[in-house]
Amino acid sequence: MSFFRLIDKGKGPTRLFVGGVHGKEGLSTIHALKKIQSRDVQEGKLIIYNCDTSKYISTLDKKYYQTPIGKEIVRLIRYYKPEVYVEPHCYHEESYISLTDLQRKEKIGVPPLIELEKGVLIGSVSPFIRTSLFKREDVCLTLEMPCINNQDLSFDQELNLKPKLAFDLYVDILKKIALAQDRKDLENKMSEKYPLQVERARKYAREFFGEYPPF
Ligand SMILES: [Zn+2]
Repeated sequence: MSFFRLIDKGKGPTRLFVGGVHGKEGLSTIHALKKIQSRDVQEGKLIIYNCDTSKYISTLDKKYYQTPIGKEIVRLIRYYKPEVYVEPHCYHEESYISLTDLQRKEKIGVPPLIELEKGVLIGSVSPFIRTSLFKREDVCLTLEMPCINNQDLSFDQELNLKPKLAFDLYVDILKKIALAQDRKDLENKMSEKYPLQVERARKYAREFFGEYPPF
């Protein structure tokens, strides 16, 4: 069953995190999303949604937004009108190269994802929704970690070290985003630890969306 949690701390920004948007990713992302607690939000709202397993269709494929889950996501965005929208995804190791390929824009039309560290990647969201459903100043972020294997599901203690480090960082970034006041605040906090990555994200956003912000 899909997972839904609304954390409401009154006035402030609205954030929407939607995990498991395609395929079996929700089986991995749910573990991270469940780690976010009420105390991780200081003001404003955070809506957390994790989708059930569905057929895998890339969000870069226009048809995705005609599927039931694609339509549901558009409905959620229209309803909550978040200033901060995050899609936690996961990837299989063999996809790492194509996701981070510096020629990705030439090959499939969108910029590569950027590795923060430990296999955690960031990028923007599908251009189909970035420019049509959000304002320029909104934060729109895709976050990727290696998918968690079924045998790792006896979790926390059992997960072997490399995926565990990626998972912990992924949860950490989600919490950072949940705490950030606005885009500037988030950019500043991310720049402290990942200045080169934020600079690259800025460059890609400029090239791809014109004056759009990096995430
Ligand atoms: Zn994905």
